[in-house]
Amino acid sequence: MSDLYARHKAVLPDWLALYYKDPLEITHGEGRHVWGDDGRKYLDFFGGILTTMTAHALPEVTKAVTEQAGRILHSSTLYLNRPMVELAERIAQLSGIPDARVFFTTSGTEANDTALLLATTYRRSNQILAMRNSYHGRSFSAVGITGNRGWSPTSLSPLQTLYVHGGVRTRGPFARLSDADFIAACVADLKDLLGHTRSPAALIAEPIQGVGGFTSPPDGLYAAFREVLDEHGILWIADEVQTGWGRTGDNFWGWQAHGRSGPPDILTFAKGIGNGMSIGGVVARADIMNCLDANSISTFGGTQITMAAGLANLSYLLEHDLQGNARRVGGLLIERLRAVAAQLPVVREVRGRGLMIGIELVRPGTDEAHPDAAAAVLEAARAEGLLIGKGGGHNTSVLRIAPPLTLTVAEAEEGAAILERALGSVH
Ligand code: PMP
Repeated sequence: MSDLYARHKAVLPDWLALYYKDPLEITHGEGRHVWGDDGRKYLDFFGGILTTMTAHALPEVTKAVTEQAGRILHSSTLYLNRPMVELAERIAQLSGIPDARVFFTTSGTEANDTALLLATTYRRSNQILAMRNSYHGRSFSAVGITGNRGWSPTSLSPLQTLYVHGGVRTRGPFARLSDADFIAACVADLKDLLGHTRSPAALIAEPIQGVGGFTSPPDGLYAAFREVLDEHGILWIADEVQTGWGRTGDNFWGWQAHGRSGPPDILTFAKGIGNGMSIGGVVARADIMNCLDANSISTFGGTQITMAAGLANLSYLLEHDLQGNARRVGGLLIERLRAVAAQLPVVREVRGRGLMIGIELVRPGTDEAHPDAAAAVLEAARAEGLLIGKGGGHNTSVLRIAPPLTLTVAEAEEGAAILERALGSVH
């Protein structure tokens, strides 16, 4: 055990998860690569859990942060804040939400917490519809709407949460249905639920579940849900913490894959926008955002230093069409991994969109999750210089691939070749 690991264990909570039997300290990064305290260079296919949106040590972001740091880090939101206004203007316009207002927080958890505060206040209801297998953060309220049991050990939340089907297609009573039948079954489930509850404030959902294993709902699922929600005046909150910023290739936001659903009433974001700086936030229609009748600030939400990073990062993303890159390079990677998977019974499914790709592992010949195989592939990939993530439901049996969006074709090929060997070694 390294000295740092021993000190980590002595002073930090037991439940603070660490990857790898021999945990890694990342010392620095550049582009799509990071270096470890073991002196090795790694190709990074997880980007700090999707936080490194463009690239590690992107010169444009470093410059903006350094220049801002030389002026002021933070002046408090009691004063006008130019970079905050500028980033809010850009995000409001990108959100697709009419007459949008933006409120910055410091994390995805806090963004969802704010969304819940808005929805429950606006609708005067503490009932929330959430999806099975969801993950929305780890505050008291965010845990209370997280369906993924591994992350929500208690259910002492003040919210009354009702869980809806639709998050996962590979398991449960609706597994193996066609797209149309799956949507019909989920809508019937939602209608049934609404038949014997009071009036919920909102449905919160990740368009593609992240921690839950990069699940793939059929396009149009949320449009179909929306029709039902609209009949009851129930708000739709899209948690775009993982699916935002063009990562899914075809769309800038995950909700856009659902076409007719239109923009959500409330959208939450975090992770990639700061390229490692902690930025979260909520976008909502003005009437919803302004339903709080108290003055409210977030001490650290929207600090100049984080907003400077966000502006530089977002500009780079848009100017270099990284959404297009995610579509092209991600498309090739998915194709390549599907060809590999076809030879390996341990792989149940390669799924994804753009650079958000899940590889679900099972015990060969069964539908049983195979967390041991996922852990073994993670170690084998690391041994060959590739970092990936894992996730998925009760058992972490899905490999998660979400590299920085500047990934090149050559790097995608290199990573796919390592994954092929790593998957082959557990087979
Ligand atoms: N929502 C989703 C979809 C997430 O994936 C996460 C983080 N994994 C969160 C919310 C919480 O974000 P944070 O960790 O920044 O609080």
